[in-house]
Amino acid sequence: MEKQRTLKNQAFLSGIALHTGARATLKILPAEPNSGITFRRVDMPGNPEVKALATNVVDARRGTTIGNQNTVVYTVEHIMSALHVCGVDNTVVEMDGQEPPIADGSAKPYLKMILEAGTVEQDAPAEFWTCKSPIYVEGNDTKLVVTPSDELKISCLASFEGCPFDPQYLSATITPDFYRDEIAPARTFVLFRDLEQLLAMGLVKGGSLDNAAILHDGAIICKEELRYRDEIVRHKILDIIGDILLCGRRVKANIIAIKPGHYFNVQLAGEMIKQMMNK
Ligand SMILES: [Zn+2]
Repeated sequence: MEKQRTLKNQAFLSGIALHTGARATLKILPAEPNSGITFRRVDMPGNPEVKALATNVVDARRGTTIGNQNTVVYTVEHIMSALHVCGVDNTVVEMDGQEPPIADGSAKPYLKMILEAGTVEQDAPAEFWTCKSPIYVEGNDTKLVVTPSDELKISCLASFEGCPFDPQYLSATITPDFYRDEIAPARTFVLFRDLEQLLAMGLVKGGSLDNAAILHDGAIICKEELRYRDEIVRHKILDIIGDILLCGRRVKANIIAIKPGHYFNVQLAGEMIKQMMNK
């Protein structure tokens, strides 16, 4: 029987936060069995905590933000993605601000910090989210469908007008090796026409070509070459892996995602919680 896992040692990363542009420090710490994933704000009085659950999501327009009362934590999805694939059930993620460092806009730096710290089995059986009956969520152009499977499989279609190599489609079983080589390095991207609006909203102050690729007029603008020809769909899969962990358990299911985004990913995680509660 598979056991629950936590960090073996504490993991540490520091860098610039995407929206505020402020310097941020992130620590991923060991935690007790059955405690789940908790984000902790060490810059606030009393070090308030927020559980990483879909029911605590307060905004999912541009990234996944969790919160309660006055405590918010922005952009949790890439850390959650790396934790999911590393099989981490229990951890406290400590931050000294409202966002983690964005690093290079992918999950690679988070994966690296977790792998370097190592993970250990705990004395409790791992509980997985498995699909009892198919679930779907849809809206706008998005459709997400979940069916039973004994491993995590994701098939994703991403499509943007004016995007090179459009549409992009990838279907894969998400093993740790596949994730490390094919998914974790895929970076965040932003549509040029959305940038102005984001800046007007006071967001993406820490955004630069160091941590995002920009889609503009059929071209991708980025500092280094594309890491994959279909980097966009790979990043969409990276985000799904992070967002569905907000159901509170590692997921073993088959997921089909057409034009996914955080808002509907989080809706799906909410439906997954409901199914788990109704069993
Ligand atoms: Zn992302």
